[in-house]
Amino acid sequence: MINRPGTPVELRDVVKEYSGNRALDGVQLTVKAGEFVALLGPSGCGKTTALRSLAGLEQITSGSILIDGEDVVGTPANRRDIGMVFQSYSLFPHLSVLENVEFGLRMRKVQAAQRRARAEESLALVELDHLGSRYAHQLSGGQQQRVALARALVTRPRVLLLDEPLSALDAKVRLQLREEIKRIQTDLGITTLFVTHDQEEALAVADRVAVMRSGRIEQIGTPEELYLSPSSPFVADFVGLSNRMPGEASEGFVTVHGQALPLLNRDQPQGSVLAYVRPEDITISDAGIAATVVSSSFLGSLRRTVVQLRDGTLVSVQHDVNQRPLAGSPVYLSFDGRPVTVGPRG
Ligand code: ADP
Ligand code: MG
Repeated sequence: MINRPGTPVELRDVVKEYSGNRALDGVQLTVKAGEFVALLGPSGCGKTTALRSLAGLEQITSGSILIDGEDVVGTPANRRDIGMVFQSYSLFPHLSVLENVEFGLRMRKVQAAQRRARAEESLALVELDHLGSRYAHQLSGGQQQRVALARALVTRPRVLLLDEPLSALDAKVRLQLREEIKRIQTDLGITTLFVTHDQEEALAVADRVAVMRSGRIEQIGTPEELYLSPSSPFVADFVGLSNRMPGEASEGFVTVHGQALPLLNRDQPQGSVLAYVRPEDITISDAGIAATVVSSSFLGSLRRTVVQLRDGTLVSVQHDVNQRPLAGSPVYLSFDGRPVTVGPRG
């Protein structure tokens, strides 16, 4: 299936209010042609509103939305040339799989033979060309989402929007389908926005991830940038696991239990702070901060051990599976010295 070259998308200062409450509070987002961007954030932060505004399903309060450089705020949804997949399976129950996929082309008055050929091509893309005559109730959840994807892509839209498309699926199917979505997106080169509240999912599929909080984008970057250089405690906490440990910050360092760790950003708060330390940046060793092992879990390729410090703080440490700390035993912790984010205490 040949797609048009990717289309850039931009949200400029987009505000969306619902009876005075701001669901979007000045969203700035530039998605490059053919780029795969994930919108990641907790429930209620405005992810769905952002997608629906881009699709034209919501009228924004102010700001502008540009598709291929053209402001589409006044353009109705059906003329924005966008494909969308939702969390809940939204197939028409009275239509076969093939008819579901053909639907968008029927709306566009594409003639029957061509409609059929393109729907079959689109179903082949999601590897379901053998199930065209089935109905939604005869498909698994994963298959239904594949059909929804084929239906969204059949009109060869300029932009693909996916709103938590994997959330209703079980773990194994989620993994398979997210790889599939990534493959199809790469093959087609279609500009894609993928909404999720699952950080692992966002990091796995996206070229860049935009972390949203309270109607705003808190940070946007590659998965590596977000994980290694979170710009705020919120991002450090939301992307990956972090231990929150009390410390004293000054002059580019934070002192945690007598050990000085460099700060990621110079403009971070000073004085009494919480340091966000990754579990893989702490080592269980023979000397350092005294602690007691609470529990240790085997996670296949690594082991995660929870220890309690003298002051009661629980700390999660990630280490090699061959190291097997016993619950109740005394251990010592040391930091690897990787730079950390700090935030206010309390
Ligand atoms: P998310 O998808 O990140 O969970 P939403 O975009 O659905 O968040 O919602 C963002 C905020 O806007 C929430 O506070 C939600 O309650 C509110 N909201 C969403 N849709 C409506 C609506 N139709 N009417 C009133 N408030 C809404
Ligand atoms: Mg939502």
